[in-house]
Amino acid sequence: MDDLKHGSRDKRGNWTPKEPLTSAPIFVLPPRPLDFLRWLPHYFLPWNVLFMVSATLFWWYLTPSQDILKTLHWSWILAIFARNCLAVFLFYGAFELRLYVKRHQQGRFKYNPKFPADSKSGAFFFRSQNLDNMARSFGSGVPIWTAFEVLTLWAFANGYAPMASFTANPWWLLTIVLLLPFFHEVHFFIVHRLIHLPILYKWVHSVHHNSSNPSPWSSLSMHPVEHLLYFSGCLVHLLIFSHPLLAIYHLHFAGFGAVVGHVGFDKMETGKDRGVDTHAYAHYLHHKYFEVNYADGLIPLDKLFGSWHDGTKDGEAQMDARMAKKRAKMNAKFNQKA
Ligand SMILES: [Zn+2]
Ligand SMILES: [Zn+2]
Repeated sequence: MDDLKHGSRDKRGNWTPKEPLTSAPIFVLPPRPLDFLRWLPHYFLPWNVLFMVSATLFWWYLTPSQDILKTLHWSWILAIFARNCLAVFLFYGAFELRLYVKRHQQGRFKYNPKFPADSKSGAFFFRSQNLDNMARSFGSGVPIWTAFEVLTLWAFANGYAPMASFTANPWWLLTIVLLLPFFHEVHFFIVHRLIHLPILYKWVHSVHHNSSNPSPWSSLSMHPVEHLLYFSGCLVHLLIFSHPLLAIYHLHFAGFGAVVGHVGFDKMETGKDRGVDTHAYAHYLHHKYFEVNYADGLIPLDKLFGSWHDGTKDGEAQMDARMAKKRAKMNAKFNQKA
């Protein structure tokens, strides 16, 4: 595909999409029903449907029975950890292999022209972004993901949390499925703003931001405290009359879905003239500029709180103005103290 039909590349090779980023046409006034209908399939396809399917398969075929889940035992906990490790290795690895190892589409649709593997940096373990990112993903990311999964499965199996059923409460469960990405967005936004507080940023979130040119393995490259906060959203299922399958869907949405935001490419080519949109640009801009796009635009939270960057020159000017204001405020404070 010719990526210059869909965007432009500057002198340094950074690729920018032609269209500015927009938030989903849901919370807009006046309402835009036609835009909403055009957007709706993208809400489901391909990513959300993929994670619904993976969660269903995991619940049906790769999760022990309720009887076994009632008692915490290392054998099944380790089995769940192993299946999650394998799934992450295969899913993340598939993106990495196609786009970064084989470089199947070279730099087409890649926001940053550089490939992390081509440069070494002292910010990372072993001076390698990939090895560092993988060590953090498997060292604390998947263990903490698994711990939340075990906790919710065990709580449901013991009746500590009220459990709905697909036969008796299908509409309620369907509502949760449809609203889950919105809940994730709000939870992620709050957690993300929190870890950008200077003290937490320094000790916790800076680990994730070491990857300023993110690639698939950057997705779960976080400090363990961030993993704890990031995956904690699934605990909501213990409170809202939900189902373990939906808790697994929530974890897949967070765990596998993170790749989609860190893939580094705007489109993944699937044919000569076809490609799948990744919707990664909003989060790519967050990795590039740090102080913008704390959420992904499903809900216009960043617009509301003044941190939205739509990828255009205007967006950049607004960001610069915000930063200048912030610096002036800090200087004034500092001068007052002095
Ligand atoms: Zn990120
Ligand atoms: Zn951040």
